[in-house]
Amino acid sequence: MTSETMSERGELIFRGGTILTIDPGHRVLAGDVACRDGRIVHLGGAYTPQTSDYQIVDSAGCIVMPGLVQAHVHTCQTLARGRADDMELLDWLREVIWPYEASLDEAAATASAELACAELLLGGTTAILDMGTVHHTDAIFAAAERSGIRATIGKAMMDAADPQIPPGLRESTAASLDEAARLIQRWHGAANGRLRYAYAPRFVLSCTDELLREVGVQARARGVRIHTHASENQGEVALVRSRFGKDNIVVLDELGLLGEHACIAHCIHLSDDERRLLAARGAHVCHCPSSNLKLASGICRVPELLAAGVAVALGADGAPCNNNLDGFVELRLAGLLHKHRSGPRALPAPEVVRLATLAGAAALGLADRIGSLELGKRGDVIAVDATALHTVPTGSPWSAIAYASQSSDVRHVAVDGALVVRDRTLLTLEVSQVRARATHAAARLFS
Ligand SMILES: [Zn+2]
Repeated sequence: MTSETMSERGELIFRGGTILTIDPGHRVLAGDVACRDGRIVHLGGAYTPQTSDYQIVDSAGCIVMPGLVQAHVHTCQTLARGRADDMELLDWLREVIWPYEASLDEAAATASAELACAELLLGGTTAILDMGTVHHTDAIFAAAERSGIRATIGKAMMDAADPQIPPGLRESTAASLDEAARLIQRWHGAANGRLRYAYAPRFVLSCTDELLREVGVQARARGVRIHTHASENQGEVALVRSRFGKDNIVVLDELGLLGEHACIAHCIHLSDDERRLLAARGAHVCHCPSSNLKLASGICRVPELLAAGVAVALGADGAPCNNNLDGFVELRLAGLLHKHRSGPRALPAPEVVRLATLAGAAALGLADRIGSLELGKRGDVIAVDATALHTVPTGSPWSAIAYASQSSDVRHVAVDGALVVRDRTLLTLEVSQVRARATHAAARLFS
């Protein structure tokens, strides 16, 4: 399917599923979901096409729901899958990830992003907040555009005079801000609003105060989101304290970066005051349970964050710290991980499904457009086969999605009312070519 045929929006009808709306009433309906001109126009019961230009996808036996939203991924890192195992964060960054990102050229960045987008779409993730690397952000945007995914992407900003940052990634403050401004001009709102830009200072340690302050000012002035990492690892937290004499979230606030437009990955090692500050500013936290476990970073106190009024979304982070981008794995882990400390009622199934959908949409600033199935919202819809032996009998669709379903159960996927996966086949990219290009590029980079 070309981008041209994707923009020709007739009607798309998911026929005959169990519909998890994630609407304010948490309604579960039976029947059809129909999209026209990119928007949801019908929910539940039988739908009669209103035009001769329509497409029906059989969704019998499926749970039809909003696509998963991942509010923290790095599609540029996918080629480093399996190349950085069993390390802690700062060593992982300095020894493998930064040198890897410095070695990326346009072809490798394209192969990495295409692989990520293909994996994400086939696994039911329809929208992402993606931190790129310092360069080749156009290639990442172009790959996301071709794949059909909804993506908010930002170039990683790294202007600190840190000798551990490879020369290929270190940039001047002005060059970093100029490149962000150019990318906003080119991509923010492109592809019918499917592509958007977010300022992505990597973390406070990779940036000068001057850059961070300017990002705070420009993000507000341009109405663009901020995407960063904070308080992921004890060593990082100690370095931030030694540089600023303050805790990480306090530093971000004083530099003008906290607000409803900010999404901060991890937030594991926080004081109660930092949690209160996040809530007061309306900032979003992205919880990445697989990555946090694998890098031995710790466990984000999601129940405490939610109780304090902080908005929490989910994300897979990157392939070299996960090692896949499977939204269903993150959903299940998030559902299970907090029961150990906070009891069995922590993050019950409907709540964790909400984090993986509507809360992710809110983290991207798109809760009015996606994240739930409601009339008038954009048609980001997935049909998850609930007839597999590992999901029957399906006592509750919430339970199935939170605890039993797998990404391989995803049967159909639409983004912006356009079908991108049909019967488990990606329609936008040729999977065999994506696999071959990624394998070849990774072999070249790591040889
Ligand atoms: Zn990350």
